[in-house]
Amino acid sequence: MSETTPVQQQDVSAAPAKVNLMGLSEEKMIAFFASLGEKSFRASQVLKWIHQMGVIDFDAMTNISKALRSRLQDVAEIRLPEVIEQLDSSDGTRKFLIRVDGGSAIETVFIPDGERGTLCVSSQIGCSLDCSFCATGKQGFNRDLTAAEIIGQVWIAAKSFGQFGERRPRIITNVVMMGMGEPLLNFYNVVDSMNLMMHDNCYCISKRRVTLSTSGVVPALDKLAGLTDVCLAISLHAPNDELRNELVPINKKYPIAVLLASAQRYIASLPDNHRKITIEYTLIRELNDRPHHAHELAELLRDIPVKINLIPFNPFSLVNYQRVSNNALRNFQEILTKEGFIATVRTTRGDDIDAACGQLAGSVNDRTRRSERYRAMSAQVDALEADLTKNAAEEPIRFIAT
Ligand code: SF4
Repeated sequence: MSETTPVQQQDVSAAPAKVNLMGLSEEKMIAFFASLGEKSFRASQVLKWIHQMGVIDFDAMTNISKALRSRLQDVAEIRLPEVIEQLDSSDGTRKFLIRVDGGSAIETVFIPDGERGTLCVSSQIGCSLDCSFCATGKQGFNRDLTAAEIIGQVWIAAKSFGQFGERRPRIITNVVMMGMGEPLLNFYNVVDSMNLMMHDNCYCISKRRVTLSTSGVVPALDKLAGLTDVCLAISLHAPNDELRNELVPINKKYPIAVLLASAQRYIASLPDNHRKITIEYTLIRELNDRPHHAHELAELLRDIPVKINLIPFNPFSLVNYQRVSNNALRNFQEILTKEGFIATVRTTRGDDIDAACGQLAGSVNDRTRRSERYRAMSAQVDALEADLTKNAAEEPIRFIAT
């Protein structure tokens, strides 16, 4: 990738602070070792120790001199968020409840499916976007996760499956940024984390197996090309603006046509230009599940390279929406298939441990009242947009403890 990302939103108050190496991208790791007067190969060594071997104790990094290890103990740390609970479902789904700094908790879910093992990773503590069908949105918003807290979720899951070390079986084959939060509102930390997931010295997951899902933060989506080349999913959930405004409030700021145009620009920018955009469509009984909605969706997506993922809504206590009926679901899928689309149905997994789609709630210390949510979201998007207009490559790389 041609650009690097600046370090975002980290605490500078407690000096002298140790640098947390857990979330440093390759570029930042190289710059960190350069700041110690060390050569760039040290970055590759430490990335491998952390993300391939699962080693977070400097003393166990045996190809690094004792003197440098001692220096690292003084100026750096490798710090992970803390696992509060690990829940295993009868269908093999595994959910991690993870405590992050500040006392809130986030959730990460692993979903096995034959040879494939997908980890659903969170990007924020809560979410300000307040989509009407989403349990996370109902929790409010606390803060963005740091890159260490995002990639830390992958590390924690890999550790739990004994995946670290040479010639260990790869259990986590796919990652989706579809957990708690809107990933593009935590832009730089998410980009750095996804690039670590794909890096040869780290988790080595194919770019075709890492997917970022967005509700439609268009300025950030426009910035994505050139910084990463992951797959893209759009949380659409409605075939027209009127209905989407109700379900996904950010649509009032960036309507469907603007969002789909941005998504197409991103896909067109990828070197392997055969990739499709995944369209996520949560079906809610008698709200967006009627045949005319399916026809309207087909019309909307007619000339766009997409595959459609239909997600039956998973009811939870804070909303009155109902799960789509099996008949309506089948009908909807059939209409799309006849219209020439690939339309799959996401089966509900991990229901017995509240790990299904839209059910992730964690434990969020909310700083906003619901009535203020939309304004808070707008302010967040505006601030991000202003930030993104700066050229990231011109930003100095700073190292601040997390
Ligand atoms: S669906 Fe995604 S963007 Fe919308 S409130 Fe939930 S976590 Fe946020």
